[in-house]
Amino acid sequence: MPLSMPSVSSDIPDLIAVLHDVLPDAKAPVPLHEPVFAGNEKEYTVDCIDTGWVSSVGSYVNAFEEKVAELSGVNYAVAAVNGTAALFIALKLAGVEPGDEVLIPTLTFVATANAVAYCDATPHFIDSAVNTLGVDPIKLAAYLADICDRSSGRTLNKRTGKRIAAIVPVHIFGHPVDMDPLCALSAQYDIPVVEDAAESLGSIYKGRKAGSLGLVSALSFNGNKIVTTGGGGVILTNDKNLAVRAKHLTTTAKQPHAWAFNHDQVGYNFRLPNINAALGCAQLEQLDGFLKSKRALARAYEEAFRGMNSVTVFKETDFARSNYWLNAILLDSAIAGQRDVILAQMHEAGFMCRPTWTPMHDLPMYKDCPRMDVSVATDLCCRIINLPSGAALGARYISTYGDAS
Ligand SMILES: *Cc1c(COP(=O)(O)O)cnc(C)c1O
Repeated sequence: MPLSMPSVSSDIPDLIAVLHDVLPDAKAPVPLHEPVFAGNEKEYTVDCIDTGWVSSVGSYVNAFEEKVAELSGVNYAVAAVNGTAALFIALKLAGVEPGDEVLIPTLTFVATANAVAYCDATPHFIDSAVNTLGVDPIKLAAYLADICDRSSGRTLNKRTGKRIAAIVPVHIFGHPVDMDPLCALSAQYDIPVVEDAAESLGSIYKGRKAGSLGLVSALSFNGNKIVTTGGGGVILTNDKNLAVRAKHLTTTAKQPHAWAFNHDQVGYNFRLPNINAALGCAQLEQLDGFLKSKRALARAYEEAFRGMNSVTVFKETDFARSNYWLNAILLDSAIAGQRDVILAQMHEAGFMCRPTWTPMHDLPMYKDCPRMDVSVATDLCCRIINLPSGAALGARYISTYGDAS
């Protein structure tokens, strides 16, 4: 251990030593999630420039969409400029209209709530389960039984009189939500599922891929996600009609024609540029390797923190296989109050760890939105710390843990 290490007060466990153990060669500052460009990134992007087709049409976009659809186990993928735009369009496709409410977890990245707000709809916050960090379907069932009025044939929130138009499970840090009971609620109340699978490319729920579990889903290919296009997103669906509408809406609603410019509704310029798709094609070729590396890193963290009483490494559930996009530790309640001291120590030692997001119901623009009791999510938010998780960091552990299921 370097001598410059900050001293650790006796009631805080020595997490820095564990990080040094797991990441012995990592050069400070160790980013939270650094992308890996070890494949055909340069070749494809240079080729894209050479073709002259760098913008909104080109063969890389088509290839990227096909590959993402295949990897996600769905029939159709439509590329978009980013994950937020993809989620916004996904909500519109699911029928979300101005004045509606959309059920989303309060423990999520702000994009989930923003996409709802862009529809002129209201986010309605739900609580999380401790085993997945995502939507708690049991708690939600009791809540919906209490607040829903189905007498008009539509599902209304009795308290606000507004229609509940969609439910958005988010697979937090790549850990799949328990989807079967959630889909049962979706059927019972006739509320479509729009999956925010932004963090979970490559994750699997009971043998089915994240992104294939809702009516329509959104992926993100932002710079910090498991696979990146620089910035980008994808809309996924098995419904051909929805896929056609997704493409239409994201390409200015232009009617196909050799030269005429006619648009039949207010569309969006959300198409992913071909040059970003070129980068994405090269990245997708490495997804299997990234997944292996990330699983191995997660196991290494698990082993290293084993026996430390006040800290638990967050693990996938029995029913899921996580892509381990971001590793997370949970601080015991007894030391949760020290979280920021711990984070400051980590940063001083060169590990760019971070707390999870401020819950949505605590943000100024969403504080008055309807919500159920969100005490579990609120508690989790105070106790989660994300650890460095870039795929390169796990490479050294593939030989040790690579075959672990
Ligand atoms: C990253 C992310 C998004 C948005 O994706 P962008 O590509 O950054 O717009 C949406 N939801 C969640 C949960 C995310 O993590």
